[in-house]
Amino acid sequence: MFTAENNNTEAQPTNERLARYAALQRELAKSASAFVSATDAGSLAETIEHTLEEIGAAASFDHALLRLFDETGPLGTPVFYRHARGVRSRYDTLAESVGGGAIRTWEEQLSSGRPIFASDVEELSAELGDAKTRLIEAGVRSVCVAPISNENGTPFGLVAFASESFEVEWTPAEVEIVQTLAATVASALLRLELEQRARGTSVRLRETLEGTGAATWSWNVQTGSITIDERWARMLGYTVEDLKPVTIDTWKRLTEAGDLARAEAALREHFEGRSNRYDCEIRMRHRSGNWVWIHDRGRIMEWTEAGAPLLMFGTHIDISDRKAAEAETFKSHALLQSVFDGMDDGIAVLDNDFRIVRVNDWIERRYGSAEKLLGGECHQICRGRQRACSRCPVAAARETGTAAHADIGVALDSDHVMWVRLTVHPLKDDGGAISGYVEHVKDITEERKAGDALVAKKEELERFFTVSLDLLAIADVEGRFVRLNTAWEHTLGHPLEELEGRHFMELVHPEDREATENAIRRLARQQQVTEFVNRYRTADGSYRYIEWRSQPHGNLIYAAARDVTDRVEREEAALAASRAKSDFLANMSHELRTPLNGIVGFSDLLRQGDLPEPYGSYVENVYVSAETLMSLISDVLDFSKIEAGKLELEMQPVNLGELLRKAGQTVRMPCEKKGLELVVTTDPNLPHMVESDPTRLTQVVVNLLSNAVKFTEQGFVQLRAEVSRAKADAVTVRISVRDTGIGIEPQQREAIFESFTQADVSSTRKFGGTGLGLAISQRIVERLGSRLELDSTPGVGSTFRFDVELPLLAAADNTQPSPTGASAPAGDDAPAGGPAATADGETGVENANGGAPAADRTVDAHRRREEPVRILLAEDEHINALVTQKLIAELLDTADVETVGDGAKAVEAFSRGRFDLILMDVQMPNVDGYEAARRIRRSESEHSRTPIIALTAGVVEGERRRCLEAGMDDYVSKPVDLERLEGVLFKWVRE
Ligand code: ADP
Repeated sequence: MFTAENNNTEAQPTNERLARYAALQRELAKSASAFVSATDAGSLAETIEHTLEEIGAAASFDHALLRLFDETGPLGTPVFYRHARGVRSRYDTLAESVGGGAIRTWEEQLSSGRPIFASDVEELSAELGDAKTRLIEAGVRSVCVAPISNENGTPFGLVAFASESFEVEWTPAEVEIVQTLAATVASALLRLELEQRARGTSVRLRETLEGTGAATWSWNVQTGSITIDERWARMLGYTVEDLKPVTIDTWKRLTEAGDLARAEAALREHFEGRSNRYDCEIRMRHRSGNWVWIHDRGRIMEWTEAGAPLLMFGTHIDISDRKAAEAETFKSHALLQSVFDGMDDGIAVLDNDFRIVRVNDWIERRYGSAEKLLGGECHQICRGRQRACSRCPVAAARETGTAAHADIGVALDSDHVMWVRLTVHPLKDDGGAISGYVEHVKDITEERKAGDALVAKKEELERFFTVSLDLLAIADVEGRFVRLNTAWEHTLGHPLEELEGRHFMELVHPEDREATENAIRRLARQQQVTEFVNRYRTADGSYRYIEWRSQPHGNLIYAAARDVTDRVEREEAALAASRAKSDFLANMSHELRTPLNGIVGFSDLLRQGDLPEPYGSYVENVYVSAETLMSLISDVLDFSKIEAGKLELEMQPVNLGELLRKAGQTVRMPCEKKGLELVVTTDPNLPHMVESDPTRLTQVVVNLLSNAVKFTEQGFVQLRAEVSRAKADAVTVRISVRDTGIGIEPQQREAIFESFTQADVSSTRKFGGTGLGLAISQRIVERLGSRLELDSTPGVGSTFRFDVELPLLAAADNTQPSPTGASAPAGDDAPAGGPAATADGETGVENANGGAPAADRTVDAHRRREEPVRILLAEDEHINALVTQKLIAELLDTADVETVGDGAKAVEAFSRGRFDLILMDVQMPNVDGYEAARRIRRSESEHSRTPIIALTAGVVEGERRRCLEAGMDDYVSKPVDLERLEGVLFKWVRE
């Protein structure tokens, strides 16, 4: 309250005035800081009242007044009034003088911003009108009024100091203090108003936020304290109370670490003015432990004077649902994307204008980054093409509305072309209109390369196929030509079109069809056919020989063939030549044998007689030499036949045991002469009848036996036959010839089977021979399906053997026959065979030396005949006829032989007389032996059949067969000697 030593009406002395000024100054400074710290209306009002009182007192004023023109100001009242102690309150009058209608006056009077003051109120401007009157009425004498103005200088209130007891002398300094006070109040009021306005906004904001479900927070950045609402706490499962005290650390603690870092960065950005608000999505920990997604937003609302952020307001919105939905979308999107990108092919999505709107990784990897491609035209996919090409599948897809494709070479760079297969599918909207395209890009470079290589390979093969001189063909197993090369045209003369698709059997020579069908059957069974030859008809009707090499593959036959007509014809010519040669040899042999026959026959007859020495031995030598010469001729002829490939087996029923025993007989005499033991050992299990070529088998065995005898000086020669394997329909018999002779050196064992080879050259001189025997034997044994083997120890002996498989004959008595003795007929045995050997069926072992000469007994039997045996002998050679007659006479005392010189005469003689036997030479002038036999057979009746025995050279192929076919019963090979003749006479002359 005003302390008033101011009842002094006199003008105050100067020092007093200075003291008052200083006091004013002091009060003003004090109040200034009070005004700054007044943050609300209440404290501001208080500060105003206090300041009015303090300044009033310091300046010894009676009245102090503050009036705001606006009745509804922020301070709750528009008038503040203080008066000094001891002074009557003039509130009403003063308030009136600056209120009501006077306000306008003051507004006007103070609008210049300058204060109005006067030592005597009466001096105040008349313009103040009523206001002045009121002041006077209130008893005021001196007054100072300063305007409270806004930033524009417009007064919105006033501060007034007044005194009633004396006239105050207003110094400029004093006036200035009043002005300063007015300005301070003005700025405090303005600030308050601003704050209230801001607060009003935040309230409105809060109200708005209530509706959105957002939680709010305000943060004093400087102190770190945070004000949150219940909603903020509730979002995380708490109440505000639970979280107290809430600071920035509460927020940090609840925020996920990674998100916190982002949030802090966003805050910094805002604080530094780089963003005008803070906005961040963060995860905060819910009380229950799970994360809650929060959209956190805020803005600095106040700054410190130093420019640092002070107050920040913000909101929290729970966006967990949206995040979950986003995550879902992301997941399915990510799935789609990974499928899209993970594809092994390229995918490009085009819009309706053929612009690329999307590509997958594959495309990016090959064509470069998506940025470059997106928005561009689809021709980029077929890079190097600026415009759509005629084969553009996109254009095709647009036209047809369906998928289209094309293979296109894409030049990725200057030396690398990628071949792609583009498939374009149009994308259609609900209405079926095309809204875009999906382009599927497949790299087919490798495929294409392989394809190119294949094509090249195919073309290459095709060229070979065309140029081949050989005939190439593909046929099916039904016997149709499927494909042929042009060589066929040249060979057969038919155009290819005529041949392809045609049944080739129609072209095959009728005689070759069966063999061809067999070959096709083998191919159908997936077997290869090689070296098969048949004849094909050409366009001119002649035939060509074609040799085939065919291989089946599935239902097709791939064949390479060759026209071998020339070769076949050459071969046939060669064959004909060799046939001619062999015919020549046969004839030669006949010619040679005829004189030889004479020599052998007569020397044989001579040596039977009792000739004085030395003539007896001369004759013996002549006979032996002639025999040797004869066998030599046989060997040479045999060999040339083998060489000409004409060794043919004549398979017939054979009594194997018999055959072997007879073979043994042939060397009986030489063995005896050399003092060697001859042992023939046959297996008791040996079947009686088998099928083989008896002549050839005999030839081999006899050859082995004669070699054994020839090369053995002492000891024995053994012929052995044993069954080594038995099957239901065949037996394998091992036939061996063993000797105790000189043996054969190991290094010679191969060579002796070759022609004209002898183990020791000196042996020719010592033992004779041509070196052909084993070569011939080996060939025969090979034809019989076996091989000659040799075991030999030089100086100890040798064993030759072979295993021969012999088909069994279903003959009734196919067992070992009981010993037949000399009187038993030889049956189907080799016709050329000599006298039957005795056999020991029980042991299978026979000492050939032990048996009595069978021939003697046979001859005896015939000699005992009473009636003459009438024989017709047809033989053109005089000497031969003579020899044969003598031999017959030797064998049969009672023989009555009529001899004729040719076939015609034989037939004629037969028609006249009766004969027990006819001996018929086959080679005769006019009518030969075959024809004569046929005629005789035609003229006789079945039950008076006369045996006809052929006299053959025995070397011409098929001679024996021809004899039988001509109706003859048997044959004797020339040279006819006692032994051979005896066999047939014994067999055919009926007793
Ligand atoms: P050759 O007419 O000379 O006997 P082969 O072909 O029959 O002709 O025999 C050839 C050679 O093999 C004979 O000259 C002889 O050196 C040898 N050889 C054949 N058989 C025997 C054997 N049993 N013992 C010793 N050497 C043999």
